[in-house]
Amino acid sequence: GSVIFENIGFSYDPRNSALKDISFEIPKGKTVALVGPSGGGKSTILRLLFRFYDVGSGRILIDGQDIRLVKQESLRRSIGVVPQDTVLFNETIYYNIHYGNVNASEEEVYKAAKAAQIHDRILNFPDGYETRVGERGLRLSGGEKQRVAIARTMLKDPPIILLDEATSALDTTTERQIQYALSNMTKDRTTLVIAHRLSTIINADLILCIKDGQVVEQGSHDELIQKA
Ligand code: ADP
Ligand code: ADP
Repeated sequence: GSVIFENIGFSYDPRNSALKDISFEIPKGKTVALVGPSGGGKSTILRLLFRFYDVGSGRILIDGQDIRLVKQESLRRSIGVVPQDTVLFNETIYYNIHYGNVNASEEEVYKAAKAAQIHDRILNFPDGYETRVGERGLRLSGGEKQRVAIARTMLKDPPIILLDEATSALDTTTERQIQYALSNMTKDRTTLVIAHRLSTIINADLILCIKDGQVVEQGSHDELIQKA
């Protein structure tokens, strides 16, 4: 879906606004990177988008509809969130991925795990996908948990995916590969919003630079380089 932020203001604390009258537009099916320094407001933008918090002022529109008028279930169906610190269910890896879409086939689960670059590592465990998280030495790193969450979200296949990598647990190479796999899998169908401290995002259609709760710069990768 397309996303419009219309004069959004938001504060966690009345003395300090996290977002200051911010407006921008994300066309349907595009990959958008939110970049900028830590504390700039990137995560807050994502939280408002899936209504973890309600906006202080302004409107957020998804496909032209104010999200306050959309049913919570319907909003959850249309948005997949990969948070920075993923908490997995204390269940098997298979269960954790399959949760994204309980109607998916086994083959689809493996395909999503491959795309999220976790398939080989899981197969290295004695019972692979049937090992429970935290059991028999299956301790997943922060990055691996995030990859399980990415596989789950790929399986869910929602029209909008939010990926919060603000302080990513993934190394740069893995990060790029996953971003690439995500944007390829979802090409033109899924609106992908990635929050990241650095503009390592290679194939974003649009980059929004967020600083002090404002959009300080926006454009394609090439446009921003020309300005710099
Ligand atoms: P970014 O994702 O770009 O690092 P955030 O959206 O996390 O930025 O933060 C924007 C501002 O809101 C910062 O000043 C930050 O300290 C503040 N903030 C973020 N989350 C919370 C929270 N849960 N409670 C209070 N303040 C917060
Ligand atoms: P669903 O089963 O449809 O994914 P959930 O209730 O699990 O619905 O949540 C909807 C989305 O919102 C999920 O992708 C989940 O990761 C995300 N989400 C829910 N609560 C939080 C939270 N506190 N912080 C970050 N993301 C959250």
